[in-house]
Amino acid sequence: MTTQEKQYDRVVINAYRGLMRAARDRSKAERALIRQAFEFARHAHEGTRRKSGEPYILHPLAVARILVSEMGLDDPTTIVCALLHDVVEDTHYDLTDIKREFGVVASNIIDGLTKISVTELNETMDSKQAENFRKIFLTISTDIRVILIKTADRLHNMRTLGAMRRDKMLKIASETLYLYAPLAHRLGLYEIKSELEDLAFKYSEPGIYEDLRQRMAATKVEAKQYIERFIRSVRQTLRSSGLDFTVKSRFKSLYSVWRKMERKGEPFEEIFDLFAIRIILESRGGKEQEKADCWRVYSIISGLYRPNPKRLRDWITVPKENSYEALHTTLLGPENRWVEVQIRTTRMDDIAEKGIAAHWKYKESGEMNDDALAKWIERVRDILENPSLNALDAVREFRENLEPYDVYVFTPKGELVRLPNGSTVLDFAYKIHTGIGDTAIGAKVNNQVVTPDQELRPGDQVEVLTSRKQSPSRDWLRHVKTVKAKESIKASLRRQRREAIEHGRNMFNWRARSYEVDEQHPYMRELLTYFKLPTPEEFYYALGSRLIDTSLISEFIKLKKEGKKIEGHYLSEEEQQKQAFNDKLEESGIDPDMLVLGQNQRFDHYQLSNCCEPLPGDDIIGFNDNGRIMIHRTSCEEAISLMSSFGSQIIEAKWAEDHSNVLFLAAINVIGLDRQGMLNDIIRIISLRMKLNIRKVTIESNNGMFEGRFDVFIKNREELRLLISRIETLPHVYTATRASGDTRRRYEAEQIAAVQK
Ligand code: MN
Repeated sequence: MTTQEKQYDRVVINAYRGLMRAARDRSKAERALIRQAFEFARHAHEGTRRKSGEPYILHPLAVARILVSEMGLDDPTTIVCALLHDVVEDTHYDLTDIKREFGVVASNIIDGLTKISVTELNETMDSKQAENFRKIFLTISTDIRVILIKTADRLHNMRTLGAMRRDKMLKIASETLYLYAPLAHRLGLYEIKSELEDLAFKYSEPGIYEDLRQRMAATKVEAKQYIERFIRSVRQTLRSSGLDFTVKSRFKSLYSVWRKMERKGEPFEEIFDLFAIRIILESRGGKEQEKADCWRVYSIISGLYRPNPKRLRDWITVPKENSYEALHTTLLGPENRWVEVQIRTTRMDDIAEKGIAAHWKYKESGEMNDDALAKWIERVRDILENPSLNALDAVREFRENLEPYDVYVFTPKGELVRLPNGSTVLDFAYKIHTGIGDTAIGAKVNNQVVTPDQELRPGDQVEVLTSRKQSPSRDWLRHVKTVKAKESIKASLRRQRREAIEHGRNMFNWRARSYEVDEQHPYMRELLTYFKLPTPEEFYYALGSRLIDTSLISEFIKLKKEGKKIEGHYLSEEEQQKQAFNDKLEESGIDPDMLVLGQNQRFDHYQLSNCCEPLPGDDIIGFNDNGRIMIHRTSCEEAISLMSSFGSQIIEAKWAEDHSNVLFLAAINVIGLDRQGMLNDIIRIISLRMKLNIRKVTIESNNGMFEGRFDVFIKNREELRLLISRIETLPHVYTATRASGDTRRRYEAEQIAAVQK
């Protein structure tokens, strides 16, 4: 044995002992069983190492430890299954071995945790990925422990992600943000959800993450002192009312702070509620008493500091779907800073901390006894078992269901409409009526004209604008959240397709008749081959939707009649472009696995996506969309959802060192006081000091507020940052921020507005 191996051996034994100490409440027999599982797994993984070089067994040990120490799940079956979770997938042991050694319950759980093998599915990697999700989640309804172990597994993999290749890292990180973090949230595992998000953030946007981490660290000392003062006053007041309680405080996660900055377009300095405090009450008089006590605390502290009524959330009267109960409020503390305060009892706190694990803890059978959760699981099961949905759609639907319904918007008449988070104008339109959805061209949201893909915010008043000339396009599917909208759009697309086929068939017959050719003619087969179309139906569809020009039909038949041979295949314009693209790539000797943007390549080889408008300096990835390479920022929401569904189409990409000859379009939003000369001063900075070209300026002033948007041509992220910081120093400018993504949307909205007039 080498020194290294001896060292590793010690690490393994220590990890095992740590696990046994954490599970010390178990009986002697149960501990023996855990030991047996450990020995079994160690033997099975013997000689295998993780990417980091460590013995593989450390991974299952760590997963088991997370379940016991961080999720509070210390029943022997959970621990045994956590230790064995990779045995069937990665070693020569199979489920029969597990069943023989550890019984049927354990082997069922391991089955749920074992990925579908490649040979079982003859499809692409991507739908295999989706099938795996479907399989994992279907098992939730039989034994919730599957999903808890899977979550712990994912958490440990995220904690050790640093050893992975960059493209794999991005794929795993996006999957985590897309599915596992919302799932952890849904299961009430808040701490784990936050950690998953922060880790995914760290690996997908390392630059921004590090920058934010340092800024947080810099304000922490000062913020801590502030919060301690705040807590002291709260404590004194509550104590004098004779209540029994503890107060905890915590900083918000980096990811949630960053999301807030992105969402509100505010710089870090403007995000004041960086911390939340939690008041945990000892209240033992039953649920009614608990509720009364929480409200009593609320009334006492809101007498101390002014609460923001818009931010009051009562999760006690109506608990969240995941059983979360608490009272949330935001108070205006000293120095006019907002502080979030959560009020709950020890029982509510236990559920909030351990989530579903707390409910489950004392039940060995694995059944659910929580009504809301049981209902949710039933709904998920319905979705996943729906045979008409393919695996990818099923996973998407499942994900939709993870996010609770909580956007309430209004019709012009003031009727309330409830939609899932992230719903758009289109979702709203379809919810009102299918006919309105099908013909929507946009909407007036709070009297402003917006495009159909505009996301709605709570309290919006929405009036859909329609046109008889409008009809749904495939693209719409990307802009809707609700099942109703999706199904309606798909139905309309099917109808459009039927009409196109009918139309194409008529056109064919009309063209072919003069040559005495009909649908039964032998030329028909040759035509299909020439156009590389599998069925006459596809052929008529291509004709009817003008993908193929009908004059080509007459030409083809004419050549045939003249006895000429027709060589090769028809290439559509798109195919011609794709071929040219591949040729160019090959010609310039570029490794397609790592796209270097701007080096030896012209910019028409790929497209910078409109949704996030990447600039040199941003972390980016490429996404192969049928031969066209779309470049997204790694933090782009669109990219995250694409990556997690179509992982194999990710292409690593980075910016070339030097981009001095190329300029990019970027937009800056500026908000400030509408003072004289404001616009002039900003333009002076852009064009005189920074010597940048402006493409467009839009300004609005309202009640003494100035709101401007400047679309400028810029070299890179650094230059943009410099520009923003210079504008920010102007007197009476409140914020200057990079506006990502909505440049195009804004133009479209303006066009619609112009049409309306
Ligand atoms: Mn694993």
